[in-house]
Amino acid sequence: MFYLLNILIQMKILLNNSSLIESLRQFNDLGFVPTMGGIHKGHLSLINESNKLCKKTIVSIFLNPKQFNNKKDLKSYPRNIKKDLQILEKSKKVDFVYLPKFKDIYKDNKKSNINLKKKDMILCAKFRKGHFEGVLDVMNRLTKIINPNKIFMGEKDFQQFYLVRNFLKKKYKAKIVPCKTIRDKKMIALSSRNLLLNKNHLVLAGKICRRLIIIKNNISKKKNIFDFLSQQKKQLEIKFKIKIEYLELRNIKSLKFSKKNKNARLFIAYYLNKIRLIDNF
Ligand code: AMP
Repeated sequence: MFYLLNILIQMKILLNNSSLIESLRQFNDLGFVPTMGGIHKGHLSLINESNKLCKKTIVSIFLNPKQFNNKKDLKSYPRNIKKDLQILEKSKKVDFVYLPKFKDIYKDNKKSNINLKKKDMILCAKFRKGHFEGVLDVMNRLTKIINPNKIFMGEKDFQQFYLVRNFLKKKYKAKIVPCKTIRDKKMIALSSRNLLLNKNHLVLAGKICRRLIIIKNNISKKKNIFDFLSQQKKQLEIKFKIKIEYLELRNIKSLKFSKKNKNARLFIAYYLNKIRLIDNF
């Protein structure tokens, strides 16, 4: 109790929608950082950006079950709300933390009618059925309740940023601000799921990242990029004993396949110790 009171002095914790609406009423320059918890330096970089560009910053922590296409993945997802609140408090950059319950978000119980277009059924959308429909639905609901001026999202989840931006821009005033991927010393993109990996897996993940950076740098010299990436995919799978879902070079404006490095990123999703990791370079 004393611990919670201590936190309340610095940053306000909003446990339901009425306290959220009441607390945010007076603010009209609000930055919003949506998260699923397991707060790390990647999340903090988004919070820093919000702090620079907006007068007030609100962070949500909501592990949205509707975006998990795999029940085991949801069950094992790292959660430690006490630690998350301590980190957020320590940053001194957060004005509000919104901790909604399932019923706060889905109280109308309406089934979502959000469907992805056929052209968007690529990369993670192809392999995680229903995932982005769940993401767009929850982002639609959160944006409606919070009504922020800006929403800060990580480029690590580039397809998520791309789809959310395209979806929300038609409906809300909020501008979506992309934020750079934060990596550790081994070049691994920080992710809550990294907590599920042991030291050896992390060493391997670091080697894979460094290999991918070399591949990306070599792409422009190759005549047939599709063949080159298909060979690289096989080699990586054998060398690191991983299962790769996709390894694709795509244009960052359209997410269409790209034949050149300019304005393109190399996207990967792979399984390491049954943990699904994504990244782009
Ligand atoms: P999550 O809690 O994983 O849903 O992530 C919440 C937000 O933090 C999303 O916009 C992510 O793209 C972003 N994010 C996660 N990891 C990183 C990272 N390593 N660098 C920058 N942003 C990140």
